[in-house]
Amino acid sequence: MFDTPISLRWQDIVDILIVSFIIYRVMLLIRGTRAVQMLAGIAVIIVIYFISGKLDLLTLHWLLKNFLSSILIVIIIVFQADIRRALIQMGRTPFQKSGDVAHQDIEEIVRASTYMAKRRIGALMVIERETGLRDYIESGQRVDAQLRNELLVAIFLPSSPMHDGGVIIHKGRIHSAGCLLPLSRNTRIDKKYGTRHRAALGLSEETDAVIIVVSEETQEISLVRQGRIATLHDEKALHSALQSILRRKPPAASTWRRWFSSQKPPVAK
Ligand code: ATP
Ligand code: MG
Repeated sequence: MFDTPISLRWQDIVDILIVSFIIYRVMLLIRGTRAVQMLAGIAVIIVIYFISGKLDLLTLHWLLKNFLSSILIVIIIVFQADIRRALIQMGRTPFQKSGDVAHQDIEEIVRASTYMAKRRIGALMVIERETGLRDYIESGQRVDAQLRNELLVAIFLPSSPMHDGGVIIHKGRIHSAGCLLPLSRNTRIDKKYGTRHRAALGLSEETDAVIIVVSEETQEISLVRQGRIATLHDEKALHSALQSILRRKPPAASTWRRWFSSQKPPVAK
């Protein structure tokens, strides 16, 4: 069995390393999602398939063989959203730079957020960066107005016809309001977060957008990006967090960025 000497070429090592890295990334991507249960289900079917073969259970073996031959199509159909998310993440390079957001825009957003938090007005504000958000912009009502804190508040007032959903902001303009965002599928998100926070997390998992959520329940202001959520306890903290994330600065000065990266994903304890 071990007679033939194994010659390992450098290409084999590179091959093994790349495949291991891909498996590792896939496992990280599917951790905490329904894909884990589905993979376990498929593993059980494969085991039954081999056992039925050994025991000559012809019909069962034939049935499972046909099912397994089309498993790739089944996986693509069931996980089309997850596959899309994974491809978007892969397309994002660590060197991608996101444009600066004007100081005045940050001021307007901070003022609107703190005003709404004090008055228990729920809000979801998305700052578009490199990843285009056209699909989401089109799901809402086009506003195309200059970014003003009074307008943001007016949109999110419960009596406003556009208060449901998110507002999408780009380069000093409010593009759209009432936009429907993708809910995060992460099953480990703390149950205290409802659909508003889950929608913010969902979008941040798919894009590089920075999202500000004002909770009507807790009056908390949260900053969401890259699938992570951080609660800001006062106006000053929100201001410096946004400044640090949205305005290009020398890395050493970016304390907030480091703090944000050290935050754990929003999982239940
Ligand atoms: P809060 O802390 O403000 O109560 P929450 O995270 O508990 O927020 P919900 O109470 O479920 O969330 O908030 C419901 C509101 O969230 C809806 O009225 C709607 O405005 C918004 N929302 C829910 N789902 C989405 C979505 N997919 N996209 C955009 N906005 C959404
Ligand atoms: Mg709620």
